[in-house]
Amino acid sequence: MRKLRSDFIHTGDQGFISNHVIILDDSGTILDLVPFEEGKNSGIEYYPGILVPGFINAHCHLELSHLKGKFDTGTRLIPFLKSVVSQREIEQDIIMQAIADADREMSAEGIVAVGDISNKTDTIQVKQNSRIHYHTFVEAFDFLQDHLAQSFFDGYKKVYDSYEGLSRAMVPHAPYSVSNTLFDLINEVNADDQTVLSIHNQETIDEDLLFLDKSGAFVSFWESFGFKMDAFKPTGKESVYYAMDRMQKDQHTLFIHNTQMKESQIRDVLSWNPNSFFVTCANANLFIENALPDYSQFLNAEASLCIGTDSLSSNWHLSILEEIKTILRYNSFLGLEELLTWATFNGAKALKLNDRLGSITKNKQPGINWIQDIKNVNGKWIPGKDAKVKRVV
Ligand SMILES: [Zn+2]
Repeated sequence: MRKLRSDFIHTGDQGFISNHVIILDDSGTILDLVPFEEGKNSGIEYYPGILVPGFINAHCHLELSHLKGKFDTGTRLIPFLKSVVSQREIEQDIIMQAIADADREMSAEGIVAVGDISNKTDTIQVKQNSRIHYHTFVEAFDFLQDHLAQSFFDGYKKVYDSYEGLSRAMVPHAPYSVSNTLFDLINEVNADDQTVLSIHNQETIDEDLLFLDKSGAFVSFWESFGFKMDAFKPTGKESVYYAMDRMQKDQHTLFIHNTQMKESQIRDVLSWNPNSFFVTCANANLFIENALPDYSQFLNAEASLCIGTDSLSSNWHLSILEEIKTILRYNSFLGLEELLTWATFNGAKALKLNDRLGSITKNKQPGINWIQDIKNVNGKWIPGKDAKVKRVV
């Protein structure tokens, strides 16, 4: 049995509490959370700073880890996608080593579960043996080419089948890259499962422009790869409506990035499917688009926000604490207390892991992280620039 105490405990779902002791059994299961009484409890481990549940990384691409430091920052999305596509072949052992290293990095950063996008089977072995729980989103796209949907799908279905035995779903990449036919084929794969889905959403203004009136850079971008866009008809509504009209509405669904999203659209998504979650990847947004979502629009709509790192191709670290620092640096109206809920409880709920992760609650096994170097600025707690996280359970 272990007893842990800190200056503050963040429970994940209830925010900060002080003067409490977490009691756990040897397997890390929470037995109790009790008030601290001087001289009453013996054998208490004290961690100056705060203790929080293990972090949930709601969006990552583990298989792109070898692309760390390869691309320029601030290019915007389409040139970024171009550089990802035009990467030269890389030796498989370098790719596999980078995946293993990234998995260890996330574990050291206190991450206990990851929603991970996969186009290939490269990450299977690491996922089978990791301390981290992974839910794999096998991602499908066909460059909006209905007539090619089936042949693209056949390839993704093989990848999906390879993940059998692991937590998985097949998901659309983004509205601007998935045809009607491919959406139908994806839906058939998930039809019998209660699973968790995801889609990249409104990361750049060109996505909305494509669907509003077929303007913006996507038409020429796809045509530069030889994909004809003559048959594409704009819907006259922002890209997220194209996704909503085609995705299953009875599944937990993660919308990723949402940099361009407005409050009315967030409200429409939530009335379409109340189990919708909005994942922010702040460092990746700054890396690629030099922009961040307007978080107040999500709070006004009472949406659940979660935090993701995206991949090392568009980030410097795979660390939820670093994402929290970035969000707070540019949004001082938010506070650490609120963001820790995004990083733990909301992520666990989104990935349907809240029966065992995401909060310091009896019988859960959330993992416990220790964050040092926090400070109070104008009545709000924020992490110091050099704040570090260490997993203690
Ligand atoms: Zn992504």
